[in-house]
Amino acid sequence: MGFDCTKCGECCRHIANIPQLSEFDRGDGVCKYLRGHECDIYDTRPEICNVEKMYEKYFSNLYSRDEFYKLNEEACEMLQNKNFKKLQI
Ligand code: SF4
Ligand code: SF4
Repeated sequence: MGFDCTKCGECCRHIANIPQLSEFDRGDGVCKYLRGHECDIYDTRPEICNVEKMYEKYFSNLYSRDEFYKLNEEACEMLQNKNFKKLQI
């Protein structure tokens, strides 16, 4: 089963602490490429925004794909529930 992104856009509204996206922050922690709930540059988005690429490049030796998806889905849930205390980004 693939990564279960609900396309809520919350990850793109909380990029302030992500060094790889510092140039994308429009000044309030929201990515300048977010349009509504969707990414305007989806096909060319940075690898940090691409769960599949991140897994293959950096995490495949640490987790199974399903485990990595689950960790990401938990982070999504925390963002959606505004539970930032547990979130390590
Ligand atoms: S927070 Fe998670 S579910 Fe929402 S758009 Fe981002 S990756 Fe998808
Ligand atoms: S580049 Fe796209 S996927 Fe990445 S944070 Fe911005 S809007 Fe979201």
